[in-house]
Amino acid sequence: MHFTSYMPTRLIFGRDCIRQHTSTITPLGTRAFIVTGARSARMNGSLQQITQALGTLNIPFVHFDEIEANPSVETVRRAAEKLKKENCDFVIGIGGGSPMDAAKAIALLGCNTLGHDDLFSGRFDTPPLPLIAIPTTAGTGSEVTPYSILTDKRINNKRNLSSDSLFPAVSFLDPAFTDSLPLDITVNTAVDAMSHAIEGFLSRRAIVLIRPLAMESLSMLGPCLTSLAAGHLPSPKDRDTLLYASMLAGIVIAHSGTTCVHAMGYPLTYYKNIDHGRANGLLLAAYLKFLSPHRTEVGQVLGALGLESLSDFSALMDQLLGAREVLSKEDLACFVDTSLTAKGVAYTNPSPDEGQIKKMFEDSFLN
Ligand code: NAP
Ligand code: ZN
Repeated sequence: MHFTSYMPTRLIFGRDCIRQHTSTITPLGTRAFIVTGARSARMNGSLQQITQALGTLNIPFVHFDEIEANPSVETVRRAAEKLKKENCDFVIGIGGGSPMDAAKAIALLGCNTLGHDDLFSGRFDTPPLPLIAIPTTAGTGSEVTPYSILTDKRINNKRNLSSDSLFPAVSFLDPAFTDSLPLDITVNTAVDAMSHAIEGFLSRRAIVLIRPLAMESLSMLGPCLTSLAAGHLPSPKDRDTLLYASMLAGIVIAHSGTTCVHAMGYPLTYYKNIDHGRANGLLLAAYLKFLSPHRTEVGQVLGALGLESLSDFSALMDQLLGAREVLSKEDLACFVDTSLTAKGVAYTNPSPDEGQIKKMFEDSFLN
């Protein structure tokens, strides 16, 4: 048995966990740069709780609230300039994956001068500033991964900035911040978490350590997804489960990376503005159909979700995602080209060739 594992983030999970563990913030810095989207952090209690904790510790802060969905390189550069001007020495990312990922890049650019390609190289002189992550959606697992996914207009796609030094120092996971999520965002993010657990479990890079975590995540997500498909908003107990399961799936992809589903989903988001989790969800049934003749483990995935067959899986996804976007053959040809060279394709086991990627797109959108 051979594997390596690195997961340096201190995880603090539970309702009211920021108030109960305020002192963990003290060693991280003396002036905080808080990174959020435009609205939700003010409304779900997360911003108020972290600023209250900073007040208790007499730590001043600056708030940058301009992170858009699928954050761009330009936005994180603008935020990093503000961080430098304000002399902040640690970063707090609050929100869905977009603000948390942006916060990682800002922590890096806040203390390094990097050109465009150097930014994505994963090599830099000074380690990023210490980072606290506070998820308010239950899906991306960014609070436990070393990835920052940015929109790179130069390559017309989303791009992964990855470095061991981008793991948050501390993540506060308070499910109460997710109580306010509407049904559509709850569905899309839960589907993203499922995609991480499935892709990680089936990846070429899956190691023995993460397989039970992926199975545990799927067995928790299965009943929640069935209930969401029936149109029910999660109970507070299910919100706890969803955040825990998405964190487990995040630990899975922190080790394995994602595979062709994410690689194919990125152009759907870039060109058609399809939400990240939804983009993966639209592709998942075709991906499992592609893998099933080669991998008996597809049966284990379905079993962990509480499903009997691939057609049960397709039916669940149809119920969760509703009517699919209408895409043309020309659209799909462009997306095949964009996804083909992504690392996630190589990590898929077996790796699909161009014709098989085209078939998965067509199965997902033209039937
Ligand atoms: P998101 O883009 O962060 O947020 C989507 C929407 O949800 C925003 O409008 C946001 O509003 C709102 N929102 C957030 N929390 C809310 C709450 N508690 N109540 C009500 N509304 C709330 O969505 P996401 O799906 O969490 O993140 C997607 C991003 O994460 C993508 O860029 C994806 O590539 C990335 N990702 C990263 C990793 C990783 O390992 N780093 C893994 C998977 C995905 P505001 O804008 O007002 O906050
Ligand atoms: Zn994802």
